Amino acid sequence: MIVANWKCNGSKEMIQGWLKDYKERYFFSKQKSTFVGIAPPFIYVDYLSRCIDDINLSISLGVQNIDPSDGARTSAVSLGMIKDFNCKFIIIGHSEMRNIFHETNENISAKLDIVENDFNIILCVGESAEENANNQTKNIIEQQLSVLNARHISPSLTVAYEPVWAIGTGNTPEPNQINEIHKFIKDVVQSSTDNNISPRVLYGGSVNEKNASNFFKEEFVDGALIGGASLNGKSFANIVNIYNGKKI
Ligand code: PEP
Repeated sequence: MIVANWKCNGSKEMIQGWLKDYKERYFFSKQKSTFVGIAPPFIYVDYLSRCIDDINLSISLGVQNIDPSDGARTSAVSLGMIKDFNCKFIIIGHSEMRNIFHETNENISAKLDIVENDFNIILCVGESAEENANNQTKNIIEQQLSVLNARHISPSLTVAYEPVWAIGTGNTPEPNQINEIHKFIKDVVQSSTDNNISPRVLYGGSVNEKNASNFFKEEFVDGALIGGASLNGKSFANIVNIYNGKKI
């Protein structure tokens, strides 16, 4: 599974160029492709979806956030609305949501309450630089994963391990360290969820076409969540091709 998080980037012009570049570079094989997704800003979901259909690409769309209810909640976008536009997944708990928009475990739980059984969730977890330096990584991840405790959650759950210090910095943990954390995440989720599911675990944080294969060769790395490198259609297609070559 390879997912692009476009964050607050994009324009109609960018989308046109991106799709042309992606299509040129993507190595198409019907039998052999992982799930590929893009989470654009809300306002581009419909436009991007139509452009993708026009050129017959197999890319699913998702969103970067969701509001737990609808009605009198100025600025919010609800689950019903994104389903209406055929979105396939939701990113919840991204570190930028936690840090810039002060999203707490309580807010994340409220979002999980409405989507836990019938939608594909990508739940982001990861430690800060300071927590990493203090050997707090596993404790922090366990606290972040506690939102899943005793939940009967969709087996399609995906967790993205995204060390905050690796996002947009060019720094990454060693591949074997990532593998160890992914195994830890799978074990924690399996033992804490009511239906004992073992989630898919993506790595996110400065993945690009040069380093991707180092991560994808690790046993417990089930794909990547990609920010910066996903803004370039050629780089993103190359990463998808590398994943398909290694894992599929
Ligand atoms: C992200 O923020 O989800 C991310 C992975 O960003 P980048 O790839 O730019 O580090």
